[in-house]
Amino acid sequence: MSIFLKVFTYLVPTIVLLSITLLLRPVFSSISAPQWQVIEWIPLPIFIASMSLCVRFNRSRMFFMALAVTISYVYLQWVLPNLSGFTARTSYGVFAISLPALLLFFIVIKEKGIFTLRGTTRFALFLIPIVMVLVISYFDLYKLGGLIFYQFTGNQFFTLTPVPQMALVVIAVGGFLLNGYLFVNPSAQLAAFLGVFISSVLLLHDYQHQAAALLFCSTAGILLVAAVIQESYSMAYLDELTGLPGRRALNEELQKLGNKYTLAMVDIDHFKKFNDTYGHGVGDQVLRKVAAQLASVGMGGKAFRLGGEEFCLVFASKPVGLVGEEMEKLCKSIANSRFALRRMEKANKDGKKQRLFVTISIGVAEREEGVTKPWSVVKAADQALYRAKSRGRNRVSI
Ligand code: GH3
Ligand code: MG
Ligand code: MG
Repeated sequence: MSIFLKVFTYLVPTIVLLSITLLLRPVFSSISAPQWQVIEWIPLPIFIASMSLCVRFNRSRMFFMALAVTISYVYLQWVLPNLSGFTARTSYGVFAISLPALLLFFIVIKEKGIFTLRGTTRFALFLIPIVMVLVISYFDLYKLGGLIFYQFTGNQFFTLTPVPQMALVVIAVGGFLLNGYLFVNPSAQLAAFLGVFISSVLLLHDYQHQAAALLFCSTAGILLVAAVIQESYSMAYLDELTGLPGRRALNEELQKLGNKYTLAMVDIDHFKKFNDTYGHGVGDQVLRKVAAQLASVGMGGKAFRLGGEEFCLVFASKPVGLVGEEMEKLCKSIANSRFALRRMEKANKDGKKQRLFVTISIGVAEREEGVTKPWSVVKAADQALYRAKSRGRNRVSI
């Protein structure tokens, strides 16, 4: 799949949700004040759901993003309307710069827990903009307040938005980095984060609209809920190192198979020795590369990592003969691949690229009379693999 298609696929939920939000925007223009008193509470369950899911699954980055979105809503819905003059303007300026900056920060940092020491210091980040606004407005620091709205250029184009130019710089840099990162490392989670970022930018631009906070903060909250669920799915079903589905996913796949299918068990040859020679880090890189080759196997085969350097390929409704031929090709192709790897051992920290290769052995078995239970077919394929190993490795046995 081309990278553009892959990124686009991940972005579909974000695009759909943002389009719905933009379509709903005019609907919310004609809502009366009494109705608002009810409607304005609607986003809160979304925020509570996203934050409690994050706490439940200990996802600190998404937790702090959800917290940033919640605070934004509270500020725009209940705090800003009660401010006026210099304080209102300053608080919006500080808000417009801090929201994208904080979101970016939480996207790039590592998971460090929520209620751990590192986690709690991150709560303190939210105090910075609040203290800034309090200090600037309490002491009437007009010069500092004006600095927030400093204009790098007097171009008319920038009068189209109330977002201060300083914030536009943060947004431009952030948008550029996020998009670049999404293409280098496409994932559903990153696509959702980009959606949260875009929602926050639209929020800053449109904040004077009565329903802007409700619409854009809810959108961001929903995207975060989806991202947490997506990530907990990945944690349960996908192997972290290779990104392939794991044993649990294989179990479910095997339940779904019909009366005709073939399984192939794949094991890397002498991998213990490979690790001992080149180090575990290089071993991990090779595992990833082999996994990527297995993932793109032909004949509609699905690859799973069973653990260690063992994989299983599932070919629904394919006979053992055809799969055997395909496996011969796979075996040759892996043996002929020269993986370009950066050596990662401490003794070799010269960063030089090296080309290494490994071979694999494959055992193939199909569902047949007497071997009807999926795990019996797995066992038969395992026995075939054992034969391939004992016959000298780098080969296929049926
Ligand atoms: P054989 O040809 O008989 O399969 O020999 P082998 O050395 O590959 O077999 P064995 O199953 O004894 O060893 C598997 C090794 O795979 C042990 C371990 O060092 C390595 N291994 C397992 N999981 C990982 C992993 O996640 N990363 C790395 N780098 N190595 C792993
Ligand atoms: Mg092995
Ligand atoms: Mg093994």
